[in-house]
Formats: sequence, structure tokens, C-alpha cells
Amino acid sequence: MKRRKFLSSVVKTASNAACAQVFSPALNFLFLPQSSAPKTPPNTSARPQLSLTLDDPTLSLGSVLKWQEANSRILKAISVKDVRAALFVCGMRVDEEDGAKLLTAWDRAGHLMCNHSYSHKLYGERTPYADFAVDFLKNEKVIAPYHNRTALFRYPFLKEGDTADKRDRFRTLLKERGYRVGHVTIDASDWYVSQRFVDRLGKQPNAPVTPYRDFLIAHLLDRAAFYRQLALDVLGRDIRHTVLMHFNPLNALVLPDVLNAFESAGWQWIDASVAFEDPVFRSQPQTLPAGESLIWALAKETGRFEDRLRYPGEDDIYEKPKMDALGL
Ligand SMILES: [Zn+2]
Repeated sequence: MKRRKFLSSVVKTASNAACAQVFSPALNFLFLPQSSAPKTPPNTSARPQLSLTLDDPTLSLGSVLKWQEANSRILKAISVKDVRAALFVCGMRVDEEDGAKLLTAWDRAGHLMCNHSYSHKLYGERTPYADFAVDFLKNEKVIAPYHNRTALFRYPFLKEGDTADKRDRFRTLLKERGYRVGHVTIDASDWYVSQRFVDRLGKQPNAPVTPYRDFLIAHLLDRAAFYRQLALDVLGRDIRHTVLMHFNPLNALVLPDVLNAFESAGWQWIDASVAFEDPVFRSQPQTLPAGESLIWALAKETGRFEDRLRYPGEDDIYEKPKMDALGL
């Protein structure tokens, strides 16, 4: 609570200073391919393709491992596959000296450095447009120093606004500042599996990671298959996918196995910059509440897939009974 209060006062102070900027011209230090024509054709390869998008790098991983070890493990796992990921940075988690070290390692490895807001606010009824806009702008400063900063914004919790007015106003702001949405197509609850693993270690320090790894892999492959099929049914083609994962202890320990498991299941890892060129990422579903996986929202918009759509698309409530049953 203390942290929350502190942050809200920081944001209020920032909002007074930054409100005037909300409608100022886009900063020219951010870039993204703006051409209307994709530079590369849609995925016509036989194998489904996906890129890794990793959210919320943090200096605070609890007692399981230090951020330095998590960072080097995750970066190494990705470099083995010779692809570039997209890192979605939430400023409050890295806004101290060590945070710059963490982010610099990603930047030097060539990964996209993207905006995930400063305070991770849920853009729902409790967050007015102005607060959300200020928080987004505040985070531009966090990624500004990096060579590979990229004008992609990912909404916290994938929530894009609870009213048409708020949804459209923020989309307009993104456009004015040269941003596109860093959409997730394959949504998942990896954060919850890691949280359960950390909770278990708190009670049983020698608990093995293997069953959590296996659950995580099965969960991610299941979600990938679900969203791939949904995309095929909604769009009639294989798109380039973006899978949502997080900077957390479990992923730091088992990411090599996760990446290998996708390949064994037939997937091909590609660069995030290539994935985000797929034309699907230009779509702007007119759903309310807005958000979720881009594929979820596009399916929802058609009104033809109600039997396959739950709300929210992914959450801990769906995984809890399964993990409980397995004693995880
Ligand atoms: Zn996040």
C-alpha cells in the first residue's frame, strides 16, 4: 500500500507537469516502421511462426534468484535461438541505477525496447484517460536512452479501455506519437505458474522445478494451439504470432526448455520486429471492454465465436483448479 501511495503521488506530480505534453507533437526519438505496406509478406511458411515478447523486467524477483542471474539466463536462452525478442518495460520496476544495467543488456543484445507504461495501471473504470496518458508518457523517458527503443505500446493486463471514448482517445494519442500497439496474439498465464512455484519454494525450499516447468510448457502450447486455430478461423490464414511471457523466476529457470518445446511442437521462432510487420497488427477491434489477445478481440468483434470465447481470455482462475489437482 505504501508503494502504491507513493507511486500515485509521483504520478500526480508528473501529471501536472506532463498534462501539457499530452497533445504535443510526437517525440522524434522514437521510431517504428510507419509504411502502410508490410515489408515482408504474411506467413506462408508451412510452420507456424511466433516471436517472444517478454513483459515487466524487474529488479525484484524475491528470494529465488537475483535479477542479474535471471537476466543473463533469459538473454542466453533467447540468443541460443538467434532471434530478437520484444521487451515491454514498465518503468516503476526498473527505475533505479541497476534498472539501467538490466535494460542495457537487452538493448545491446538487439532486442526491441518497448513501452509498457510506468505504473502498470489497469485502463478500466478507475483509471481516467488523462491518468493513463500521463503514465504512458512518463515511461517514454525510461526507454528513451536505448538504441533499440521502439514505438510499440503494450497495455497493462491487455486492457484497452472500458468505454469507446477512452479506448479511442488513447488510440488517437498512440497514433499522434507514432506508436502502434504491441499486441499479444497468444495470451497465457505464465505469471501465475511462476507465482505458484515461488509460493511453493517459500514453504518447501527444495521443491523441484520440473513439474512447474512441465505445467508451464503444456499450458503455453495449449494456448498457442487455441489462438492459432482461432486466428485461422477468424482471418483465414496463419498470422505471425506474438506470445506473452514475463520476466519471472520460473521463466528464468526453464526458458530454454520452453523455447525447445515450441520447436518440437512445430513452431518456428522469429524476430519480434518481423512478427509485428504482419498486417494483422494494424487492426483495431471495436470491442468493449477493449483489449485481450488481439485474436480474441477480432473473434469477439465478429460475434461468431461466442462459444469459444471466455472473459477474461486468460486468468489465474482457469489454471488454479488444474494446478490444485496436480498438487502444484
Ligand atoms: Zn505487465
